[in-house]
Amino acid sequence: MKKLFAILALLLLTVSAGAQTNPPAESALDRFLRYAKIDTQSKEDQDKVPSTSKQLNLANLLAKELKDLGVENVRISEFGIVYGMVPGNLPDNSKVPVIGFMAHMDTSPEVSGENVNPIIHKNYQGGDITLPKDPTQIIAVAKNPDLKNLIGDDIITADGTTLLGSDDKAGCAEIMTMIDILKRNPQIKHGTLAIAFTPDEEVGGGIDKFDVKGFGAQFAYTVDGEELGEISDETWSARTATVHFQGKNTHPGTAKDIMINSLFAAGDFLSRFPKDMLPETTEGRVGFVHPYTGTLEVEESTIKMLLRDFELSGLDAKEQMIRRMAQETGQKFPQVKVTVDVKENYKNMKEVLKNYPQLTEYAMEASRKAGLNPHIKPIRGGTDGSNLTFRGLPTPNLFTGGHNFHGKLEFNSRRGLEKTTETLINLVQLFAQKGM
Ligand SMILES: [Zn+2]
Repeated sequence: MKKLFAILALLLLTVSAGAQTNPPAESALDRFLRYAKIDTQSKEDQDKVPSTSKQLNLANLLAKELKDLGVENVRISEFGIVYGMVPGNLPDNSKVPVIGFMAHMDTSPEVSGENVNPIIHKNYQGGDITLPKDPTQIIAVAKNPDLKNLIGDDIITADGTTLLGSDDKAGCAEIMTMIDILKRNPQIKHGTLAIAFTPDEEVGGGIDKFDVKGFGAQFAYTVDGEELGEISDETWSARTATVHFQGKNTHPGTAKDIMINSLFAAGDFLSRFPKDMLPETTEGRVGFVHPYTGTLEVEESTIKMLLRDFELSGLDAKEQMIRRMAQETGQKFPQVKVTVDVKENYKNMKEVLKNYPQLTEYAMEASRKAGLNPHIKPIRGGTDGSNLTFRGLPTPNLFTGGHNFHGKLEFNSRRGLEKTTETLINLVQLFAQKGM
């Protein structure tokens, strides 16, 4: 009997040692549902940050909740950026770098974020998901292969009339839940953490107001990606080119031998774009050239285009190609003056992040410890992280569990939120154990 008791006691001890983490006061899912219902849609072409004052509703709430969780130095800047600091609990916190975690509060201007009504599809058993308020909105397995990995999970969608706002309130909820868990589990050792929630990510501009120095982190992660395990340390390098075609206008009735119509030169230039180098014909790591707007007048026409490539050498080659095309058009229309203007937009953050491989390695290891299958996905766009990386704060991007950003078919899941949170908890411990 005594022996049996001893075995039982040992068993109990082992079990409790395996499940030693106290749960958060509020689950990542419940937190997310609360944040998702707050309308924080941002707006294009505003000359103030935040572009919409309703984003402050979430900013104020997050600041209050950070304070309630014991986060120090919580403040909201004049631009609506929420900052805070979670003190480390190591014997000497100065031995490990201050790591930042960031998510954005706004949702895309493309689809309404008003009256978001999150729906939980409990214990998903496969098949397409039709959204209740608009039966034409269907999350199809054929277009969402990751659904196959979500059998048995609780899937969260909007009702078909709005976006869900998982981009990026999932990131906000996951970071907040991480802090909640750390507070309840002092046995989890971590260095000092810098926290920020930003407005206007979807319209650009918000990050320009970010106070890198005041934030106080040496390295950071944006928690703003998609599928579980997806980590990004690469973005495009990006330039914009404008080609001007200068002609000469006059009254068409008396134009003989005087008028020089620049439209024909612009048309000739457009016809020279290689069809296999366009956004509509490329994917993955292949860059593109993309004429996207312009003006057509007899006197002067312009064509604007995006140049995108992951390699600076590839981007240079694309710029040279555009210049050559413009020159050829100029030779064909010698009376039209053709000029090319190129502007640098942003650079692939890998140019900096390659010097800090641990940032990606630790993120991969933290994901694996959470039972995920991490993989690197280059972003065919720019991120707030690429901006920060070139301002001295190296910042790769982590997944959130979300899918179908900027649309009514956006979704996330209970496991998506929980596994991302678990990855963050693992990550802060790795920095505490290994430093940089
Ligand atoms: Zn986002």
